[in-house]
Amino acid sequence: MSIAAQLSSSTRTADMFKIGIGPSSSHTVGPMRAAALFAERLDGLPVARVTTRLCGSLGATGRGHMTDRAVILGLQGYLPQTVESEVVADALRVTADRGSIDVAGREVRFDVDLDVVFEPRTLLPFHVNGMVFTALDDAGSEVARGTFYSTGGGFVSEERDGEVVAVDAQPRDSGPEPYPYRNAAELLEICAQEGLSISEVARANDGGGDALDDYLDLVHRTMDECIDAGCEATGVLPGGLNVPRRAAALRERLMTRDHESGSSWRSHNDPMAGIDWVNLYALAVNEQNAAGQRVVTAPTNGAAGIIPAVLRYYERFIPGASRDGARTYLVTAAAIGAVIKANASIAGAEVGCQGEVGSASSMAAAGLAEALGGTPLQVENAAEIAMEHSLGLTCDPVAGLVQIPCIERNAIGAVKAINAARMALWGDGRHYVPLDTAIETMRQTGHDMLTKYKETSEGGLAVNVIEC
Ligand code: SF4
Repeated sequence: MSIAAQLSSSTRTADMFKIGIGPSSSHTVGPMRAAALFAERLDGLPVARVTTRLCGSLGATGRGHMTDRAVILGLQGYLPQTVESEVVADALRVTADRGSIDVAGREVRFDVDLDVVFEPRTLLPFHVNGMVFTALDDAGSEVARGTFYSTGGGFVSEERDGEVVAVDAQPRDSGPEPYPYRNAAELLEICAQEGLSISEVARANDGGGDALDDYLDLVHRTMDECIDAGCEATGVLPGGLNVPRRAAALRERLMTRDHESGSSWRSHNDPMAGIDWVNLYALAVNEQNAAGQRVVTAPTNGAAGIIPAVLRYYERFIPGASRDGARTYLVTAAAIGAVIKANASIAGAEVGCQGEVGSASSMAAAGLAEALGGTPLQVENAAEIAMEHSLGLTCDPVAGLVQIPCIERNAIGAVKAINAARMALWGDGRHYVPLDTAIETMRQTGHDMLTKYKETSEGGLAVNVIEC
């Protein structure tokens, strides 16, 4: 059974929106969680050294995605949702200086260059993002071993006795779901039978109530803080490509523009002027992500800018936008993301960027259509339009960094989501291609896509752009 097939469409909102750090959900957030899970088991064991093999896509682009740093932090018990950015920034240097790390309450020797090994050509049996952790005693004998997979969006699975088991999905604590569904067609059927909206079904399945609202508000707040921090930060992004941050300067220019009169395409009177702000919000988030700062994985880090950008668009440009509308937006987006994850993938290493930016765009389109009062059919149509027109999008990050094409691609994905929602809302919900068909097409396209276009940085822009 594939890992994706084990996940139900009812994956919780908290699973789809994880608070983490950049630059990658599959290459940073997932490995950090996996390393922390492994380290937990070492309590009381005579561990003197821990080694990590990063296989497949983790081996290919792990350096650019800072997977080694994530593993070092995870082994020391840090988690992506709580680790301080200063700790993250200093982790490699501090470890190299000390020559050791603290694992499960004891100091173990650690050589940054030797104890994290990148193996791009090694493919573990269940997923392209594989990790093997081995704990050794003083004599070099193995005392524990764990094989984990980072399956996209920060999700982690473990291989146990030849089976693979999801180990960190949020368990439901409120009994069985009232409205289980496996795909968008079944979701629409429930909506029609019960007279419910997609967000109402999603809320009911997710336990509803204050706990859900509190989490949605936390996600919302974290997204806002990320946009605002990204709009302030200046300088060059880390990693060696010397990509300058653009958001702060763009924000200055847009604020100046919005206080001036004029009628050219650059003036705030231009009907498309709002798009400039949407672009800004997405750039700001993805620059923060590329800098390894706090972001919401939505549904991945590489695509983390789309859902916040469309949410800020909703709040800033839609008259009557409300906090409830923002919650509706987020819970609907999560529901659509869960359907995509269950039936295809949200991992660039599995299906290319159509699974990351395509999924985020589809989720945002659905969320916006729902927040604007769309019917379930219109909401499903919005998600479908955004997904259909992301099909075939490859993942080819230059230098293995989540910068080019990722940062701009989020801006494009956000604008696409808004356009998809608007197109759907001007219709009556009837459309030719069901969302499930677009998702299945994405899955097949990803399956057929050459490995070099799936987060390996061995094709596309990654080999055609000259690094300077
Ligand atoms: S190209 Fe797309 S899938 Fe690949 S790292 Fe960038 S955002 Fe993620």
